[in-house]
Amino acid sequence: MTACLFCRIVAKEIPAAIVGESEHALAFRDINPQAPVHVLVIPKRHLTSMNDITDGAEVAEISKLALQVARELGVAESGYRTVMNTGGDGGQTVHHLHMHVLGGRAMDWPPG
Ligand code: 5GP
Ligand code: ZN
Repeated sequence: MTACLFCRIVAKEIPAAIVGESEHALAFRDINPQAPVHVLVIPKRHLTSMNDITDGAEVAEISKLALQVARELGVAESGYRTVMNTGGDGGQTVHHLHMHVLGGRAMDWPPG
């Protein structure tokens, strides 16, 4: 059994509110939402962070699913933010690559 939280969500060992799925990616609602729409999109294969990217196939895969989810949840036209935090200074707390999709309210810039 893996210790990685998001691998356990992929394996259905831990429940999540799944909002989208493709062959290689999974999208589910963040447990502590920071916006009316706050979804995490992950590759099913474990990669720790952007630092593990080689050919970028996983980033393409999660980007496509993120767009599909943004459309289905009704924020594609109003706008949304995609964020991938990497490492300590990036604010990453779960060490399985993920893209946040935040929408349903106006976002601030710059991020804190
Ligand atoms: P990070 O800080 O690594 O960029 O984002 C990790 C995100 O995972 C956080 O927004 C946090 O709320 C979310 N999260 C942590 N544990 C769980 C969980 O068990 N289920 C879900 N759905 N989200 C989680
Ligand atoms: Zn993992």
